[in-house]
Amino acid sequence: MSGRVLKTVCPLDCPDACSILATVENGRVTRLEGDPDHPFTRGFLCHKVAHYDRRLYSPLRVLYPARRVGPKGPGAGRFERITWDAALDEIASRFKAVVAEYGGEAILPYSYGGSIGIVQRNSGHRFFYRLGASRLLRTICDSAAMAGWDMTIGKAIGNDLMQAAESDYIVIWGMNIAATNLHFVPIVKAAKKRGARVVQIDPHRNRTSHLADDVLQLRPGTDAALALGVMHVLIREDLLDRDYIERFTLGYEALRERVLNEYPVDRVARITGLSESQIVEFARGYGRARAPFLRVGFAFTRHDNGGMAMRTIACLPGLVGAFRKRGGGANHESAGAFEFNLDRVRGEDRFHPATREINMVKLAEALLEEKNPPVKALYVYNCNPAAVAPDQSRVLEGLRRPDLFTVVHEQIHTDTVDYADIVLPATTFLENLELYKSYGHYYLQVGKPVIEPLGEAKPNFDVFRLLARRCGFTDECFDDTEVDVMSQALDTPSKFMAGINLERLMAGEPIRVNLAADADPFADGFYTPSGKLEFYSERMAARGLDPLPRYHACSEGVENTALRERYPLQLLVPPSVHFLNSTFGVVDEQRRRMGVPSVKIHPADAAQRAIAQGDRVRLWNDRGECHYQAEVTTDTREGVVVAEGLWWAKHTEDGQSANALVSTRLTDLGAGSTFQCNLVEVVRAERNGHTGRVAAESVPNTESRIPNPEPRA
Ligand code: SF4
Repeated sequence: MSGRVLKTVCPLDCPDACSILATVENGRVTRLEGDPDHPFTRGFLCHKVAHYDRRLYSPLRVLYPARRVGPKGPGAGRFERITWDAALDEIASRFKAVVAEYGGEAILPYSYGGSIGIVQRNSGHRFFYRLGASRLLRTICDSAAMAGWDMTIGKAIGNDLMQAAESDYIVIWGMNIAATNLHFVPIVKAAKKRGARVVQIDPHRNRTSHLADDVLQLRPGTDAALALGVMHVLIREDLLDRDYIERFTLGYEALRERVLNEYPVDRVARITGLSESQIVEFARGYGRARAPFLRVGFAFTRHDNGGMAMRTIACLPGLVGAFRKRGGGANHESAGAFEFNLDRVRGEDRFHPATREINMVKLAEALLEEKNPPVKALYVYNCNPAAVAPDQSRVLEGLRRPDLFTVVHEQIHTDTVDYADIVLPATTFLENLELYKSYGHYYLQVGKPVIEPLGEAKPNFDVFRLLARRCGFTDECFDDTEVDVMSQALDTPSKFMAGINLERLMAGEPIRVNLAADADPFADGFYTPSGKLEFYSERMAARGLDPLPRYHACSEGVENTALRERYPLQLLVPPSVHFLNSTFGVVDEQRRRMGVPSVKIHPADAAQRAIAQGDRVRLWNDRGECHYQAEVTTDTREGVVVAEGLWWAKHTEDGQSANALVSTRLTDLGAGSTFQCNLVEVVRAERNGHTGRVAAESVPNTESRIPNPEPRA
């Protein structure tokens, strides 16, 4: 290998936060590999990031600021290159005009996890608070999961994933780890080699199913009921750690009464669609294991009962004392141990508490319905809402509004860029400095730039400082450097972060937070108000919610018989192994691996509708429609259709993906998204009077649809 090898970190919204070795030759990145010395990365990357150069050097890379000179929308817009000065002046003057006429709340920042780095992700807050802009509630991903876990456990930490190699019974609940937590796969394999049994709980068989001894394909949205049925068996058969329950939990007697009275196995079987023997066998396996380990994902939390489902599942390790067993325990996220001083980084002291809040899940409503004041300016960064936000048809309608001034700071010409008035070129992780946590492992890392920014790309951090000055803000915080912000982030009294040294991080060393790999993270107590794992939660009661775990049906689930008469199929939109949210939709190779936008349908459902393998089908509900290719398979259960994503809108046949069918309804806890909780109907579609078959080459590529600002580097 020739060239310089430089270390950096993957910034993507993935729990693995890989350490990367980048080979740079003549100023170009020519190779990306996993760092063999990083304890979790262990020398390999997912194929998406191993070939990130395809995205980095894509012809669709945004390299220069540009102004829209044609109509909004895909294929229609034309952009002309402008200077950074011209772009910043125009943004500042439009923002000032909006503030003068409508007030600051008429400006809406919109961002999420395009980078999960601390600096680039949080550097806009100071600016938007100072501007008096509406506050965005960033809830699209994990807020229901976090809220549910918090109610039972108190903090988003858990047993180290690496020590699960010593478990004898691993449960992977609502997570396709082969797609979204790849570095946990070798750990599961190591445990299997030692004889561990692996159970996967998911309505949909996916790549992770190959690792599992048992796959429990329950009805979507019934996960809490399954957990309560398991508790019923554990309690009835006394498969409990009574000492643990006594010392470390709160509310066992109340839980016991509810579970024994309300969740007998036959009822749970009827709700979940599993057999009684499947439920009993699973419960016995979990209860009798020496060290059961529960890897809990997000999928089931994106139903409107998702927060309570997470709270309920999080109770299971408390009944069997799993947290203190070597190799056992549970992990949903590790992010809670990275207790940065985010108030300082974000400048929370500049936020006025009376400012309007807008939930990012409800972007469609924000753009089309908000009146007081209306949203007149939108600033998008780290995010591609035209592709990812729910109720896509209405989001696109909102983005098309001629009176909406939209700025998009992006690396790539995404769907959202099609609607921008001003486009700003953004750096990638290979071009900017960043401090990273993980939400899968416990290592802090600094990622350094390995090449100069391409074209005139700038990081978020620089752009917000420049905009602050253009807007006349003289606050000292806008003089901070990225290193200043990292120091501020690490200036925290947290016991987990004590002694973390920025110099060592800057030298490329991953540094573990203060939580030993084989430790019981709750040996000194839980992080709830009582210090116990709370089967009974006063906080839930104080909010007028059920203080005990329970199952309640989804509003668009199997128990909504009225709606199911019109829309009898439940739609799931899980992530694909080839895309990461919408990040890799631009890469031809990733789209080639995906094939065409397709929907999995069970043979019985397909037969009922005379749908054959490869048929072009129409999916619809009251919110919208899209056309996909049918994949007839028993990988999904009867009554459930699965559209793996996330396809860019412009790569679909009619400019709308399955997100056009997804509602903006919020979850029971955490006000999160409900991507997995939507009823649809599917029929064979006709094309010119004949059933259409979708061929891969019929999927339009991005290049043919989006003009590039000229010139290119
Ligand atoms: S996306 Fe995840 S698995 Fe892939 S390189 Fe990044 S952190 Fe690693």
